[in-house]
Amino acid sequence: MIKALFAAHASRWAEYEGPLRDAFASTGLSVDLAREFDPASVDYIIYAPNSPLQDFRPYSRTKAVLNLWAGVEDIVGNPTLTQPLTRMVDPGMTEGMVEWVVGHVLRHHLNIDPTLAHQSGAWVRHIPPLARQRNVGVLGLGELGAASATALAALNFNVFGWSRGAKFIDSVTCLTGWQGLEDILSKSEILILLLPLTRLTRNVINADALARMPRGAVILNPGRGPLIDDDALLNALDSGQVGHATLDVFRTEPLPADHPYWTHPRVTVTPHIASETRAVTASRTIAENIRRSEAGEPLLHLVDRDAGY
Ligand code: NAP
Repeated sequence: MIKALFAAHASRWAEYEGPLRDAFASTGLSVDLAREFDPASVDYIIYAPNSPLQDFRPYSRTKAVLNLWAGVEDIVGNPTLTQPLTRMVDPGMTEGMVEWVVGHVLRHHLNIDPTLAHQSGAWVRHIPPLARQRNVGVLGLGELGAASATALAALNFNVFGWSRGAKFIDSVTCLTGWQGLEDILSKSEILILLLPLTRLTRNVINADALARMPRGAVILNPGRGPLIDDDALLNALDSGQVGHATLDVFRTEPLPADHPYWTHPRVTVTPHIASETRAVTASRTIAENIRRSEAGEPLLHLVDRDAGY
């Protein structure tokens, strides 16, 4: 019998136990799933980085650590983790992210805020441009960025995307390298950050990057807080160089109550809800990876420890 340790926050057990057992059963796996085992007996660790488990050395026979989150920045550098690490790719999470991104892009594209604020009886008509006249940049074209770029392109937005390696996505202009980034920054009226947090992406949106953007551009950050230099963004918001920032992720979470983002008139804070791992669909990803490992097939969504994602 395969032993799988559930090492996410205790509060998640009730949410995941049933879906994981169902997914193991429908994959034909015989799995003993529990929140405690003798570490030396554990085959797989189903993991969340906020787990109390931080020392992986006693897990001597563990074949893989299967992360429940897409982001791995809090675990990828753990020196005790020598086992293969996979990140979460969950169709439910992707769906949620696409909805958050499209919703917030449309808010700014259609200029919905002033409409809501001015129900004064005055018949003032501001016709928004068509999506095809709006340049949108997506930094990061992985699972979430590519799906978001594709959904925006389907609405006819003029979409530019940036990744490390070359990508080909229908109706999306895909660019790489620093020149590619500069091109995207200079064009993007709405910029979406869906990069992982690595040593190369930290503070990628700094004062220089913000200065390259069209005046009044909008930034959406559902990626990770430290992708943005917060002081530079606040300065750019104050000066009007950035017209609005909708931020879902922050250097410190929960965002402290006295943080200037909460009260800045050009900032919308959402409390890291852009997209959640969904237990039913994520459990299928976990079960499929255990099946693959047991069958000697390569694991899906393996983290590149050097690249950091
Ligand atoms: P992913 O599939 O690993 O994609 C990452 C993308 O970023 C890839 O296209 C990658 O390029 C690109 N990239 C990485 N480093 C780069 C660099 N130095 N220069 C240019 N491009 C670079 O990740 P994902 O599943 O889409 O998730 C993205 C991030 O979203 C996660 O890491 C997490 O931080 C965040 N997230 C947030 C929430 C939320 O609720 N707010 C939920 C889930 C995830 P290549 O394609 O060439 O490798």
